[in-house]
Formats: sequence, structure tokens, C-alpha cells
Amino acid sequence: MEVHAEFLIVGAGIAGTSLALELHKRGSSVEIIDAYNPLSSSRVAAGMMNPMVPRNVQKAWHCDAIYPTVFEYYEEWQSVLGVSEDEKFIHRIETLQVHKNEAHTKNWTKRSRQNGFTQHLTPVEPAETSEYGIPLPFGAAICHLSGKLDVSVFLEKAGNYLHSKGVLIHSNTLNYNDLIFDSDEIIWKSPSGNRKYKKIVFAEGVKMLENPWFSYLPLTVTGGDLIKFRIVGLPSRYILKRKEWLVPLGNDLWIGGSTFHSGSLSTEPDEKDLNELMSIFREWIPGTYTLEVIDHKRAPRPTINTHRPFMGEHPSQKGMYIYNGLGSKGSSLVSLLSPLYAEHLVNGVELLPEVIISTDLET
Ligand SMILES: Cc1cc2nc3c(=O)[nH]c(=O)nc-3n(C[C@H](O)[C@H](O)[C@H](O)COP(=O)(O)OP(=O)(O)OC[C@H]3O[C@@H](n4cnc5c(N)ncnc54)[C@H](O)[C@@H]3O)c2cc1C
Repeated sequence: MEVHAEFLIVGAGIAGTSLALELHKRGSSVEIIDAYNPLSSSRVAAGMMNPMVPRNVQKAWHCDAIYPTVFEYYEEWQSVLGVSEDEKFIHRIETLQVHKNEAHTKNWTKRSRQNGFTQHLTPVEPAETSEYGIPLPFGAAICHLSGKLDVSVFLEKAGNYLHSKGVLIHSNTLNYNDLIFDSDEIIWKSPSGNRKYKKIVFAEGVKMLENPWFSYLPLTVTGGDLIKFRIVGLPSRYILKRKEWLVPLGNDLWIGGSTFHSGSLSTEPDEKDLNELMSIFREWIPGTYTLEVIDHKRAPRPTINTHRPFMGEHPSQKGMYIYNGLGSKGSSLVSLLSPLYAEHLVNGVELLPEVIISTDLET
């Protein structure tokens, strides 16, 4: 039987889709199988990208490699995918990190003056009323290299592009029992007949927990809520952030989040979470603005305790690979990891040592 494609990618979330684009760009033949799920992590995600981690005011993992090139990465894809001006999916938006107490003011201000941080942070003086629409009793910091990816639009445009280039996208769930491993090749007993591949990459998000080959890896899930608001008149130049955040979407619409429910796979929004988030936002958004709830969604994030993604070949099953564990930073991480993964799979370039699945990570 002829080989249908070099790669079968299982899952068309941000991991699988960005990897498919990168493999296709390098001339590799790819097919994708995806059980479309409107409540998948990627389709619900807010898509925020921020080089700073508030805890201890640190830079995010591989921050200097990811920022600011993450914006150029998506801008280049916007151009390749032929995205029009009003359908752009990448947005550079600075973040106003609002301080809650004097310790925050001190820590963020100190950092903003240190080498390696000056390009990221500018302190904002305390003010009772401010141009940002919210009082800043303890001041704030402007994080410059932040922004937002409209993940659903990116997935839709990328899917259309790949389809137009002849990449087959199968709208099915891959049943693990339908795979046969035959020396150097992999056969998928698809509904329309057997198909043959050289390599298979599982990019299944939280579904990895059911995968018989990779469920030994220590993936956890963290449920999160997102609320879409209409807030008429709130200045929308910045992403507003304390621990929770509000991302401007334009036309007085905002996405706010989020919660962290350890171990929860639920996609059923709970009114308790809505009320909790509302009361948090009410602490710092002045009562002069009405928070009109438009939508409330809930989805699980694929997370790992070490905060390092999973990549690389299965320890005993040749030709079988994993791409998972993007946690709450999928939008920014794939700009570094997907090109690197494609280079690894096509040209044998080394992966970052800390992401390679190893026996150290086994539960
Ligand atoms: C509430 C919330 C807020 C978030 N906010 C942000 C944010 O602001 N910034 C950010 O960067 N990240 C954010 N994230 C996280 C980010 O979205 C994830 O890191 C990312 O979406 C993970 O993508 P993935 O491709 O690994 O998995 P997924 O998005 O889950 O995609 C996996 C896909 O594979 C399909 N699939 C799985 N198994 C199979 C199978 N056997 N056969 C066929 N198809 C299969 C699924 O249906 C799905 O379409 C957020 C997530 C949530 C839930």
C-alpha cells in the first residue's frame, strides 16, 4: 500500500494546527484528524500573550526567545493565509498590570528598573482617577510586549488554507484500536479504508488522558471560565490585569477571566464562578461602568505541574510522537515550539531538552 502522507496529526487545536502549518511549509505531506469541539481549550481560550509572570514578577519561560517575535510569527502567517484587514487574528495590546497593595508596587517597580526588564515594563504612578478608566491606588506597570491571538479565527483560517493546499482534514475521532503499527509505518483503519503514514503526532489536548500510549505522562487538567462582557465607555487601549484580567475586543466588548479548577474536565459553566468573577471585577472596575454579561464559557486547559510542554517520540513505539501540555500559554508557546518541532521531525534538529518526554516525568 502506498504511503498517503508522511505525517498524521491527531487534533487540530493550536498545537496540531500550528505544527501542520510548519510541516506543510517545509514540504512535508500531512493529514489531520480532528473531532471538532467548540468547547476545546483552544476554541475557548482568551489567547492572551504576556511575557511577564506575576508571581515574583518573573519573565515567562523562554520569554526572550518568544517576545517580541511571537507577533511577527503570527503576522507572517496572517499574510501567508491571506487574511484581510478586518479578519486579523493577532493584536499587539499593551497590558496595564494593576497593583493591589504596596508590596506589588515595590516588586514591579524594582523589576522595571533591572537589566533585562526595562524593555518590558514601565511603572505607572498611583492615581485615584486615571486615563485608564480605573483608579490606581497602588499604581500599575505597563507591560509592553503583550497582546492577544484570536485563536478560533487563526484555527479557521489555517484550516481553510491547509484544505486549499490539498491537506486532508478528517472530521472524525481517532479510535486508538484503529491503528496498526507495521515495522516503519502506521496504518489507520479509517472509515473510508486503510491509510498509511510514516509518523503520527498526537496533539489531543486534555484527551491525552485517554490515550493508551501517552496517558502515563503526568498531564493534569485545570478548568477555566471566560466571560464576555459589554462595558460601555471603559477605555480599551490596554488589557487590564490584576490576577484576573479583561481583554478588549473592540465595540465595548471585553473577555474576562479566569478561574483555575484543578482536575476539572467540565464544560458546563456554573453560576457560582460567574458571581465570583463578577465580584472580583467589581472590586476594581468603578461602579459607573455596567458589566453586562453576554456569554459565559468553561473549558479545561491541558497542564503539567512542571509547566513544561510534552514533545518527542514515544519511548518504545517508533514513529509515534506527542505534542501537549501547553497549559495556559498555548498561543505564545507554539510560535517557538511548532517551528522547532517541524525542524526536528523533518531535519532532525534537537528539541529543547526540558520538553523531551523522558522517564523522569512518569507518574
Ligand atoms: C478558559 C481558558 C482560558 C485560556 N486562556 C489562554 C490565554 O489567555 N492565553 C493562552 O495562551 N492560552 C490560554 N488558554 C490555554 C490554551 O488555550 C491551551 O494551551 C491550548 O488551547 C491547548 O491547545 P491544544 O492544541 O494542545 O489542545 P486543544 O485545544 O484541546 O485541541 C485538541 C484538539 O484535538 C481534538 N482531539 C483530541 N483527541 C482526539 C482524537 N482522538 N481524535 C480526533 N480529535 C481529537 C480535540 O477535539 C481538539 O479539537 C486558555 C484555556 C482555557 C480553557
